[in-house]
Amino acid sequence: MTASFVTSYRGGLLAEDGYDLPWAFEPEHLQWRDSMRKFCTDVVESEAAQRSIEARFDPDLVRRAGKLGVFGLLAPTEFGGAGADIRTLCLTIEELAAVDSSLAVTVHVQSICVALLAHLAKDRPDLCRDILPSASTGETFISIGLTEPSGGSDAGNISTVARADGNSWVVNGAKQFITNSGTPFSRYVILLAAVGEKVQGRPPVSAFLVPLDAPGVTVGKSYPKAGWRSSDTHPLFFDNVRVPADALLSEPGRGYRDVLEFLTWARLPIAAMSAGLARGCLADTLRFVKERTSFGKPLGVHQAVAFQTADIAALASTARTLTFDGAWKYDHGLPIREAAAVAKLVASEAANKAAYIATQLQGGYGFIEETAATRHHQDARILTIGEGTSEVQRMLIARSLGLAV
Ligand SMILES: Cc1cc2nc3c(=O)[nH]c(=O)nc-3n(C[C@H](O)[C@H](O)[C@H](O)COP(=O)(O)OP(=O)(O)OC[C@H]3O[C@@H](n4cnc5c(N)ncnc54)[C@H](O)[C@@H]3O)c2cc1C
Repeated sequence: MTASFVTSYRGGLLAEDGYDLPWAFEPEHLQWRDSMRKFCTDVVESEAAQRSIEARFDPDLVRRAGKLGVFGLLAPTEFGGAGADIRTLCLTIEELAAVDSSLAVTVHVQSICVALLAHLAKDRPDLCRDILPSASTGETFISIGLTEPSGGSDAGNISTVARADGNSWVVNGAKQFITNSGTPFSRYVILLAAVGEKVQGRPPVSAFLVPLDAPGVTVGKSYPKAGWRSSDTHPLFFDNVRVPADALLSEPGRGYRDVLEFLTWARLPIAAMSAGLARGCLADTLRFVKERTSFGKPLGVHQAVAFQTADIAALASTARTLTFDGAWKYDHGLPIREAAAVAKLVASEAANKAAYIATQLQGGYGFIEETAATRHHQDARILTIGEGTSEVQRMLIARSLGLAV
């Protein structure tokens, strides 16, 4: 940070920028943020309500986002990606979620799957060359299949089975709530499957790359969802799906560790989504309370309304600060297990409170599908559930405090 910046800095809280965090970013981060914001204003925002009402995944919008490079942010440059850091991804997700959480989660899942494949296949340049360039542009979507019908929080307790048979694996089982698995771009799922008998109640788990068009894979009917309505989510079924030996991406039995430990940082983009959504609530609420009048004056001049609007700003600021604290630490090689759990827990709960206040302050309009406040309220609800529920985050934090929960 330059001395001139420090002396000229005046602080402040802008609805459109969120709480500013001068320590967290380099100039390139802010340049990228500005180009994302322009894309969101020019291309994403205007139809977000309609897409959500119709629960319509929009392939053209995905193609336009792909041209900007959002899907390959975390892919290595040698395979067509940007080789960017987690702060860049979090800024991207934050900007998208301020106007359209459905597109934000579409980008989030593809980004983590691209990074995960690059990580698991780091010693297999041929595989990376085959898939990562088109995954980075968004022409090839990869999904992640962890959650099962029997439950997602107890993630290691996997019932889907992969059995070695000669020079191949045979997969049987089902996965539930899989994002990006039924779009026109969807080609693969990184699947976690049990590869042996349970030891102390847990099976050894491996990660496999399974093509979605392999015989025996069924992509089930799209879920009708309460939020993230224009994102794509399906169950997946595996009935004697035969994949070659090299579909195995992790050392046999180490898939759970290889995948879940690597993805500790993936809670941060969900915290960023929460920060963006809370900021979207703030911008929309400010507009509303300045325009609307009651008892002869603008709504925002009533102290109770002003205070609640201030609460949204404080919630958005808290979410943002914790998100980029975690992201900055990760980008500087510091451990983030606790920071990511705290950021995800606090930011997602804050987003829900912000969305509740935003809808309340808009009265009847806050209950009408076309309004941004209503959409944010719908989209907020999943944030305390996906990528580890609030209870799972509390479990991780409690364990870090030495409590054997
Ligand atoms: C729209 C959407 C998209 C998703 N995308 C994906 C995806 O792409 N890939 C994927 O693998 N999964 C995905 N998921 C699944 C998501 O990660 C899970 O829903 C989440 O992890 C919770 O699992 P569950 O729904 O099975 O709830 P459960 O694990 O059954 O939990 C139910 C409730 O019990 C609580 N609970 C469970 N155990 C405990 C405990 N020990 N102590 C206290 N409370 C506890 C939970 O916190 C929760 O409140 C998605 C889900 C949705 C809805």
